[in-house]
Amino acid sequence: MSEQQSGNLASKDPYVTSFNAAVQSVDGHNVVLDRTFFYAEGGGQPADRGTLAGVDVVDVQNRKGETVHTLAEIPAVEPGDSVTGSIDESFRTYTMRAHTASHVIYGAGRTLFDVQGYGGFDIAEDRIRIDFDTTDATDDVDPVTVERLVNEVIWDGRSVEWYEMDLETARTDEDIAFNLGDDAEPTDTVRIVEIDEWDRSACGGTHVENTVEIGPITVLSVSNPGADLVRIEYAVGPPAIQQRVEERRAASRVAGMLDTSVENLTHRVDGLIDENETLRTEREQLSQQLLDTRISALAENTFVRNGDEWLVGTVDGVGPNDVADRIRTLELEGVDVIVLAGTDGSTFLVVGTDGEQDATEIMADVTDVFGGGGGGQPTVAQGGGLDADPQTVTEYVRKL
Ligand SMILES: [Zn+2]
Repeated sequence: MSEQQSGNLASKDPYVTSFNAAVQSVDGHNVVLDRTFFYAEGGGQPADRGTLAGVDVVDVQNRKGETVHTLAEIPAVEPGDSVTGSIDESFRTYTMRAHTASHVIYGAGRTLFDVQGYGGFDIAEDRIRIDFDTTDATDDVDPVTVERLVNEVIWDGRSVEWYEMDLETARTDEDIAFNLGDDAEPTDTVRIVEIDEWDRSACGGTHVENTVEIGPITVLSVSNPGADLVRIEYAVGPPAIQQRVEERRAASRVAGMLDTSVENLTHRVDGLIDENETLRTEREQLSQQLLDTRISALAENTFVRNGDEWLVGTVDGVGPNDVADRIRTLELEGVDVIVLAGTDGSTFLVVGTDGEQDATEIMADVTDVFGGGGGGQPTVAQGGGLDADPQTVTEYVRKL
C-alpha cells in the first residue's frame, strides 16, 4: 500500500492488465519502463505477476523513484523499444478484492470498536491479515459480527473511489486512516480511497470500484499479536468459500452424529452436557457405595499389630483420590490403620491412620519394595505406579 512511483499507474487504473510501454533501461534481468501498470510490492500487498516482452515477471519493486521489473530471463530488449506488459489477471483480481475488503473491514472495526489506526496489513495467497491499533481486548471483537457487517457492506454495492489529496490536508482530517505502510516514501500528495459512507483511508494499493465485486469474505480468526493490537485474519474468494464449506461440513457431520440438525446443535449439546453431569454424579455415588460396601466387608477381617487395629485389603472400580477422600471422612470404630490397594492404570495404595502411626512412613516402606512414588500427610498418604498387583502389595503390608 505504499505510494507507487510516478509512472506507475497500477493504483490509478487497477483494471488495466495489458499495456504497451517504452523500455527506459535494462540492467540484466531488471527492466524499467516509461510507464507501467504492474503493482510494485509495498504496504503488505504483493507485487503483480505476469509477463513483460513475453518473459515472466518474477518481482516488481520500487527502487529510488523507479518501478523495477525483475524478469525470469534476460530480455532481448533495448532502451527505446516498445514492449507489451501483461498482468496476471486472476492474481490482480484477487489482490484488488482482498485489498478493498481490508477497507471494508477497517470501517467495520471503526463501527464496532475503538480503533486508533492501522497496525499492519498483509495479503497472502489464502488469507489476509489486518492489525488494528486499539486498546480494546480481543474478546470485545466478535468475528461473526464483523463478518456479517462486512458482508452486508459488500452486498450494499457501495462505490469505491480514489483520488489524490494534499498530504497535510489529509493528515488533519481525523476521518482518514493512514494505511500506507512503513515503506511509503515521502510525497506531497496521497491517494485517498473512499468507500461511500463507510471508510476513507490514505492507501496506495489496488482497489475495485464497487464493494459488491469483493464477493463473500470469511473471518478466519481474531487474535492479539501484541500490546494494543487486534488482528483480524480473513479470506476472500475461493479460500473464503472453502473455509465455509469446511465449517458447514464439520457442523453437519457433528449434527448427524448427534442425530439432530445444525440449528439444534446447541440445544442438543446442552442436553448432553447435563446428562453427562448427571451420569458422572451417579457414577461417583455408586463408586462410593461400592467402596463403603468393600470397606465394611474388610472390617470383619481386621487384625491387631502392636496394639493397633489394622484394616488391609484391595478395592475395585475406584481411583486413589476417591479412596483417599473416603478415608478422610471415614470413622471406623476401633480401626487405627487402614490400607487399601487398587488399580488405576497401575497399582495404587492409600494409607490412613488415626495419627499415632505415620501414614507416609508406611507408604515409604511400600514404595521402597515395589517402586513407584507416594506422599501425603501423617494421617492420609497415597502412592501409585507400584510394580506389583494390589493383592501382592496388601499381603506385604499384612506382614510388615
Ligand atoms: Zn487500500
